[in-house]
Amino acid sequence: MSEASTHPWDDDKFHEECGVFGVWNVTDAAALTALGLHALQHRGQEAAGIVALDQAGIFHSHRARGLVGENFSDKKVIDSLPGRAAVGHNRYATTGETALRNVQPLFADFEFGGFAVAHNGNLTNANVLKRELVKRGSLFQSTTDSELFIQLMAISLYSAVEERLIDALRRVQGAYSLVALHNKALMGARDPSGVRPLVLGRIGPEDGAHSWVLASETCALEIVSADFVRDVEPGEIVIIDDTGVRSIKPFGRTGSRFCIFEYIYFARPDSVMEGIPVYETRKRIGAELARESNVPADVVVPVPDSGVPSAMGYATEAGIPFELGIIRNHYVGRTFIEPTDQIRNLGVKLKHSANRAVLEGKRVILVDDSIVRGTTSKKIVEMVRAAGAKEVHMRISSPPTTYSCYYGIDTPERGKLMAAQHDLAEMARIIGVDSLAFISLDGLYRALGRPARDAAKPAFCDACFTGDYAIPLTDSLESADRQLSLLHSAQ
Ligand code: SF4
Repeated sequence: MSEASTHPWDDDKFHEECGVFGVWNVTDAAALTALGLHALQHRGQEAAGIVALDQAGIFHSHRARGLVGENFSDKKVIDSLPGRAAVGHNRYATTGETALRNVQPLFADFEFGGFAVAHNGNLTNANVLKRELVKRGSLFQSTTDSELFIQLMAISLYSAVEERLIDALRRVQGAYSLVALHNKALMGARDPSGVRPLVLGRIGPEDGAHSWVLASETCALEIVSADFVRDVEPGEIVIIDDTGVRSIKPFGRTGSRFCIFEYIYFARPDSVMEGIPVYETRKRIGAELARESNVPADVVVPVPDSGVPSAMGYATEAGIPFELGIIRNHYVGRTFIEPTDQIRNLGVKLKHSANRAVLEGKRVILVDDSIVRGTTSKKIVEMVRAAGAKEVHMRISSPPTTYSCYYGIDTPERGKLMAAQHDLAEMARIIGVDSLAFISLDGLYRALGRPARDAAKPAFCDACFTGDYAIPLTDSLESADRQLSLLHSAQ
């Protein structure tokens, strides 16, 4: 399970997981990978890494804590990563501590040569597998679950890289979108439920041959001028080499359960995921929200930045003016000041300011994407009231988040999720609003172009709203069993 965020400015959000990127057959592969990672920076800000493969078959890597711009804007660093193929990773620590040894891409030397892998997602049987492997002699170099791909490949009895990877993927449970690089190919893989995104893009042709890109989101294709080809399918492995792209689907078909929260909050608004444009979807969610729970008001105000498109959709549907009543300071960096408790309390004010000219004397509808612990919402409402708002109504473009995510999103434990602990009226009282409403689950599905949620076969993963976990939570169940048996033995 994930670590708590230590970042004071937005520690009351679910946090993005990681971003992965890979290129094949391009000049300056590392520079392009740095650009791709930069476009995916919203998916992870703790560390970034690139592994490049040069023409002589030698791998070069640079991995460091911090942002992509901090680590890869120096030409000397890019020059130290020569080659026409590379993979990269932005890390948000969903498992394992934030030590350099956990920064990806991970790399290992096999008898077939070097192998680098970057993972977005979270494995739900990692502890069980790790114990088994350690017992049989595997020496883990990191504390991240992503190392399991390498360790499982290392004990595979197959000799071909592809077969070894398939062998490893058969053993793991959970969510994964991978990019991997070895001497002969760039590979991409998605778990059979396709929880996390991965897209294929193409550049070129350069010298008569196409160049290929794999990325977590389409916004990373844009920045390197690649054309979107398609989403990598759930359960699919794509193998890209000088002959082109091959696809294998070794795991049979299971229902796709793409993370519905990507549309609400995680993805960049200019991305298109599984054929659905994120920005338009957020506006449609806002319109649904207005249809479901509008109240008379003077202004619709987004909690920036992620609340903006849904507030626009809400305002248009409700016929109420959209105004920027809260201004975000984009220059609050993590290096600004140390996050002492005092500064932590000031965090919301450092990041957001109330625009008194818009708010004073007004009945305000505040639109935000989610309520996690509720602490930030409370402070924002206090700030809006202090700026003279007459009434404050909060509208949320996700259903109440009542369960934790085990598939690669940093969420607090269930006991800290406000909606898991309080009913709507209590939440409204604690946050200090005149009224509070969340979009319904069916409304969310409607905004995504479905008639409603089909409980027998949901089209998306929505477990943080429903508790309907499609992929077994093996580690969590096992740890609950252990605690229970410890309790029994203590009695
Ligand atoms: Fe996304 Fe929620 Fe499913 Fe996690 S539990 S993958 S955040 S929808």
